[in-house]
Amino acid sequence: MADISGADARHLRAVGPEALIGGVELLAGSVRVALVSPSGVIVRRAEQDFPATDDPQMLQRTVQDTVTGCLAGSALCGVGVASAGLVDHTTGVLRRIDDQPGFSGYPIAASLTRLLDCPVFVDHRARLQVLGDRWFGHGAGRASFASVATGDTLGLGLLYEGKVIAPLGGRSGAHITVAVGGRRCSCGNLGCWKTIATSTWLRQEATERGLGSIGGVGDLIVAARQDTGARRLMADYADNIAVGLSSVQHLLAPGLYIVHGDAAVGGGAFLGRIEERLRAVSEWADFAERPRVVAADTAADDVALLGGAGLVLSRLSGQ
Ligand SMILES: [Zn+2]
Repeated sequence: MADISGADARHLRAVGPEALIGGVELLAGSVRVALVSPSGVIVRRAEQDFPATDDPQMLQRTVQDTVTGCLAGSALCGVGVASAGLVDHTTGVLRRIDDQPGFSGYPIAASLTRLLDCPVFVDHRARLQVLGDRWFGHGAGRASFASVATGDTLGLGLLYEGKVIAPLGGRSGAHITVAVGGRRCSCGNLGCWKTIATSTWLRQEATERGLGSIGGVGDLIVAARQDTGARRLMADYADNIAVGLSSVQHLLAPGLYIVHGDAAVGGGAFLGRIEERLRAVSEWADFAERPRVVAADTAADDVALLGGAGLVLSRLSGQ
């Protein structure tokens, strides 16, 4: 049985003291499953790579066997699936996962509901990160905040006045245009935020500036201790992340930005620079909450699984 001693009253009102929650993360290459307590403690987990096949039956069986192995027999109040690709969160059907076409049209919510006899909810994993923070992280108790993914992927989820902003057809921000006539993006457009604020940009830029091998923000911070060029690159990278978040601050003023992924290891030297930029562009709003940028307190690997569990709590509690 899970240790739920740390669970706050909100969790218990949502699911009851005995309930456990299932979190599932579906990626192109693997499925990960966790049994989660109402306070966000992962009490059991399982992971399975997919066989090299396009056969939908085999892929679905791998998901179902892994989920059953980890979750069956537990007193589940619900399961939340955090999926890559395009997901219809209103029907619980996977529309498409790039690099794994066998999942197209898979009614995963209905399938897992039959297996586990509990409600199953599905949404895109980038969006669910915000619900992991809202229930189990720095976002607890807040009505509005942003949860930011950094590193090889970029984007953000937003909780606004208690609701996750998740319009059908909306995306996570990586492809907002931040530079007219900028670099070509993987989506085909020019000047997307993604072209200047991911680890790919950082690595390329470090090479072009003759700074050697910089794999991420951790390397950059070490290099910046004795190299002015690295310090300049660190400031530029922070500013590039801030430029996308500035648009969000101007539109929705979420106040708190919880940073996950590579940039989260940057600490005050890096996140503080992003915070400064956000404060500078919203200085006039002295009557509103000043922006704050903090590192996430959840393990990077668990973000999507806790987000799936958070989706269950939100749907069951209506919060
Ligand atoms: Zn793009």
